Amino acid sequence: MGEAGSRGSPARRCSVCGAPAVVYVPYARAAFCPRHFVEFVDRKVGRVLRRMGALRPSGLVVAAVSGGKDSVAMLASLVKHAREAGTRVIGVFIELGLGGYSSGSRRAAEEACGRLGVPCVVVSVEEVVGASVPELARRARRPVCSVCGVVKRWILNAIAVELGADYVALGHNGDDVLAYAVKGFLNQDHASLSKLGPATPSIPGLAVGRLRPLYEVFERETLVYSLVEGLPFLHEECPYRPRQPLEHGIKDALNRLEESHPGLKISALRRLEKAVPLYERLAREEAGGEWEAKPCRVCGLISAGGECSFCRLTRRALGEPAGARAREAIRGLLRSKGLLEGGGEA
Ligand SMILES: [Zn+2]
Ligand SMILES: [Zn+2]
Repeated sequence: MGEAGSRGSPARRCSVCGAPAVVYVPYARAAFCPRHFVEFVDRKVGRVLRRMGALRPSGLVVAAVSGGKDSVAMLASLVKHAREAGTRVIGVFIELGLGGYSSGSRRAAEEACGRLGVPCVVVSVEEVVGASVPELARRARRPVCSVCGVVKRWILNAIAVELGADYVALGHNGDDVLAYAVKGFLNQDHASLSKLGPATPSIPGLAVGRLRPLYEVFERETLVYSLVEGLPFLHEECPYRPRQPLEHGIKDALNRLEESHPGLKISALRRLEKAVPLYERLAREEAGGEWEAKPCRVCGLISAGGECSFCRLTRRALGEPAGARAREAIRGLLRSKGLLEGGGEA
């Protein structure tokens, strides 16, 4: 991983305690032993959480846990900070219906939540919506990845709205954010760029803001963090991942540039965060003045007017929009877990 001891140079020592280092972080010009590397990452996460005012006493954060290295690292670090702040964290795993990949992911997610002492809500798309993600994609004649994105976003938001959560925490790392940002720049998609800060705001009753605790933590760092912390995670890639996703090409290119220009990525992220309000203004102007979020007429959650993208998708796939029914199923699930008032397992 790091360059510790490579190229015949003397083994590096931890910049904090002098113990043998396991990782060197060029942009920080620092080497770390396992313990101080974990502290380095936790500090970066803590700064983002504080800046976003994400943790308050008796607050609640819903964490999306996919079972991959990023989501378990995000959860582990988030839980440490949340505990200090007196904020509750609830993990959510969405069973997409992708066969062996889904069952492996689910095991890792449940194990990670269990080990970190966080309740894990497992939501089956097939049970809540009426068909798995590949089935919805086939029936709607839409790419699996775009269907998956719509379904996951809607379910996470529905759960967070029901629970009155402050934020939905996502496992996106700094490399993910930069890849989306380059893609957004290439398409001059200001609306997408405006959502690429460490957090997006909540709209009461309609949408709970999204939070990226790993905003300043890079992919390589989440891997080392998960390994050092001994977190369970699934190494496999999603079977529906496109063979040559644009995002991967962008990440490779940026990583090559980072090697010759250490610090390029972290300063790009900080500038992006500062530019978000400008992109918001541009996006609003392009939409012809004030863009107002309105409740979807089927499910009542955020939409641009009329039906939300989830209700439109399920109408196309199943003949009728699933929003209202799926919301009721989610309420039932949360009640059965004792997470929502009114009912529970009698
Ligand atoms: Zn150390
Ligand atoms: Zn809807």
